[in-house]
Amino acid sequence: MDYNQILQEIYEEIQPYASMGAPASYIPELQKVNPDHYGICLHTLKGKEYAMGDCDERFSIQSISKVLVLAMGFSRLGNQLWKRIGVEPSGNAFNSIFQLEMEKGIPRNPLINAGALVMTDILISTLSHPEEEYLTFVRELCGCDDIQYNEHMATSERETGFLNAAIVNMLKYHGNIKNDVEEVLRFYFLQCSIGMNCRELSRAFLPFADHTHPFSFGGTTLTTSQVKRINAIMQTCGFYDEAGEFSYLVGLPGKSGVGGGIAAVCPRKYAVAVWSPRLNAKGNSVMGMKALELLTTKTAISIF
Ligand code: GLN
Repeated sequence: MDYNQILQEIYEEIQPYASMGAPASYIPELQKVNPDHYGICLHTLKGKEYAMGDCDERFSIQSISKVLVLAMGFSRLGNQLWKRIGVEPSGNAFNSIFQLEMEKGIPRNPLINAGALVMTDILISTLSHPEEEYLTFVRELCGCDDIQYNEHMATSERETGFLNAAIVNMLKYHGNIKNDVEEVLRFYFLQCSIGMNCRELSRAFLPFADHTHPFSFGGTTLTTSQVKRINAIMQTCGFYDEAGEFSYLVGLPGKSGVGGGIAAVCPRKYAVAVWSPRLNAKGNSVMGMKALELLTTKTAISIF
């Protein structure tokens, strides 16, 4: 497969989409990013890297962190997790609150904000040094020890994060948050604030594509079956109320973030990360989605 050629063709074919959508504006710090960036990087399980565009510039991973937090929690609690969170697609926006009220504080899945806030609470209860251990896990996953939290980004989000504050308070009311709500919000915003570039993100997701080697990074170990299930959750829930569309167009398990990044895996083959800050109405990168649609179309490989 000539991935270099394919990435080049994708770049040319997505140009008509270059000015569609807009960067997230509800987190003030995200508005400062140049919206015209585009980068894509793919790592194969055979050890090859293919990159194009702005692959060395770090961006805020935002909700892509939810997969990493899920991996840490699933490793420690196993199926006990599912007493506090479901595995059903929500069909609602990532920051929706009304379903949470109707379903009495049990979030639909770990990849929407409500679910990730419960996961964050679980990590605070389970780990001795959650902030340090999360960073160690991410650094080991991508093999890069200067990955950092962006305190500025986290603070910027806390200052306007009224909806997330409402969600965590709703969860607390229903007994599904055990720790202090401010502590949960702080750690949640820090997870989202982490800066990574496409190369690092793609490398970090490669172990989720690998069903042959044990998953063991920074104290987080997952069985093959657990990795498979995380992929299933990404497939059904990774794009909120656009999960069906992503499945239909791309056909890979993946996760988006409002920083404009998308990470996806082709099980047993490769991981890929793409970044373009302009988002569609559902909060997913316009060019990122189109690029991945073209990738699975041109390679004629997806999970289907
Ligand atoms: N930090 C963001 C939020 O909570 C993450 C959302 C996202 O990337 N979809 O709103």
